[in-house]
Amino acid sequence: MDRPSAPLALPSVSTTAAEGIVRPTDCRHRRIMLGAMFARRSLPAKSVASALLAVLLLAWLLPGLAPRTHAHNDEHWLLVPGEDRSVGEIADRHNVSAALVAHINGLSPTTVLSDQHLLIVPLPGAAAIVDTFVPMAIKPAFPGQTLAMLAEAHGIPVEWLSATNGIAQDQRLFPGQPLFLPNLADPRKTHVLGQVTVEYLSPYIGAGQTGYLLLSSNPGIQPSAQLGNTKLHLTQVPHPQAKTQQQFHYSPIPIDPLTESGPVTVTVSYLSQADILVAGELRFEVFQPNPWRQEIIVVDGVVAARLSVEALQEETNLLTAIWNRNNLPRQWSDEPWQRPIPEGHPTTSVFGSRREYRSPVPIHATFHTGWDFYAPVGEPVTAPLPGTVVLAQDLVTKGLAVVLDHGQGVLSGYWHLSEISVEEGDFVETGDLVGLVGSSGISSGPHLHWEVRIHGVPVNPQQFLYGSILPPETPE
Ligand SMILES: [Zn+2]
Repeated sequence: MDRPSAPLALPSVSTTAAEGIVRPTDCRHRRIMLGAMFARRSLPAKSVASALLAVLLLAWLLPGLAPRTHAHNDEHWLLVPGEDRSVGEIADRHNVSAALVAHINGLSPTTVLSDQHLLIVPLPGAAAIVDTFVPMAIKPAFPGQTLAMLAEAHGIPVEWLSATNGIAQDQRLFPGQPLFLPNLADPRKTHVLGQVTVEYLSPYIGAGQTGYLLLSSNPGIQPSAQLGNTKLHLTQVPHPQAKTQQQFHYSPIPIDPLTESGPVTVTVSYLSQADILVAGELRFEVFQPNPWRQEIIVVDGVVAARLSVEALQEETNLLTAIWNRNNLPRQWSDEPWQRPIPEGHPTTSVFGSRREYRSPVPIHATFHTGWDFYAPVGEPVTAPLPGTVVLAQDLVTKGLAVVLDHGQGVLSGYWHLSEISVEEGDFVETGDLVGLVGSSGISSGPHLHWEVRIHGVPVNPQQFLYGSILPPETPE
C-alpha cells in the first residue's frame, strides 16, 4: 500500500523447441530461465494449458524470489512437472540436494508428484544462494495468500517481507510461490563468552523495527548489554530450556528509523567472580525498508506559529525525559499486546512516513513516530498492556496526551485525545480506558496516534500486536 506496485505487464515468452526451454525475453528485473517445462512426450491439453499459465505467472513473479543481497546475480530456476516421480528423484536428476528441493516446495523428498504438479528446482547458482541464506526459511504461499497475511501469521513486519523478497506489499502471490521468511526457530549459532552465552540475537532488524537479544548465564553472573551508547535493560526471564540454576536474560533491541543499512554492534559484558570484566561484540544487520511513504502537510499561519522552534523544544524536552525512563521492571510477558482501539478503524498514516510541514514554504521536516488510526471522536482508547501513567496533560502539538510506562524501558503514547480518563501515577491493566479519541493539538481530524518507544527510540507499534519481538518462553 505504501510501495509502488511492480509493473504488471507479463514478460513475453518464447520457446526453444529443441531444448524444451521457455525463456522470458523481456524480464526487466533479471534473467530467468525456465526449463524442462515441456517433456518431449505430449501432455494432456488441459495440463499443458495450466502449466503454461503457471509458467507465465512464475516468469512474472520469480524476480521476487532472489534475496536482496544477491540482486545482481543471474538466478536460474526450473519448473518441472512431476511425471509420477518423487521429489528426491527429480532433485537427483538435476544434481540438486533433495532436502533443498523438498524445503523450497514445502514437500517431503519421498512425495510422488503427478504431471499436474510443478516442482520448483533451483539450478546450482540459485541453490547455492538458497543454501547459504541462513537463517531463512522458505515457505510456499497458499492460494489467496498475501504478504500482509503472511506477515501477520508469522509475526513479521510486512515491510521486512517486502524488502527481503523484493516483492511490493500489494503484489499478488501465486499458490506455491516460495517466500523467504526469517527462521526464528533456527537462530544463528550460539556464542559462548565465558560464563555468558548469547542464545539469540536477531540477525536482521529493519530500521524502525524491534529485534531482541537473549542471553543465558551461570548463577550469580549478571550480564550487561549495550547498543551503541544505549545500555540495554536486560530482564531475567523464565525459559523451558534452562538447566538448574542457569539464568536467562532478555532485552528488546529498538532500531531508530533513521539508521542506515549495514552492520550494528551489540556489546555484551559481565564482571566475573574474580572481578575481571569480560566483554564481547556481536553484530546484526540493519536494513532500510525503502522507500518510506512521503507526506506533505500544509498548515496555516496560526498552526505554523505553534510549530515554532521554541514551542516544539519545550514539548520535546518534556517528552524526551519521559521516554528515557528506565526504572520500572517489565510489566509485560510473551503475550501479544491488545489493540489500543478496536479492529476496523482504518490506518490513516503508517509508522516512519517522511513528513514535511509547509506554510506554504517548508517549515519543518520530520518522520511519523507512530501509527494513526481514523476513529470518530469519543471512541475509547485502552491500554494494550499493564503500565503506569507517567504523562496525562495538554501539549502544544500532541494535544490531550497520555504516556504509559510498561517497564524495561518500553513506553507507549496516545495523542490528540478529546478526553483523558487517567491521572499521572495511576496504574492501568490491559484493556483499561486511558482516554477518548479526538482531534486536539495539531491534527487534521479525529484520529488516534499510537506511539511505542523503547529506550527513547520510536519503533513500529504494529509489531507488538503480533508478539514477534517477545522472548521465546515457549520456543518452537
Ligand atoms: Zn500520528
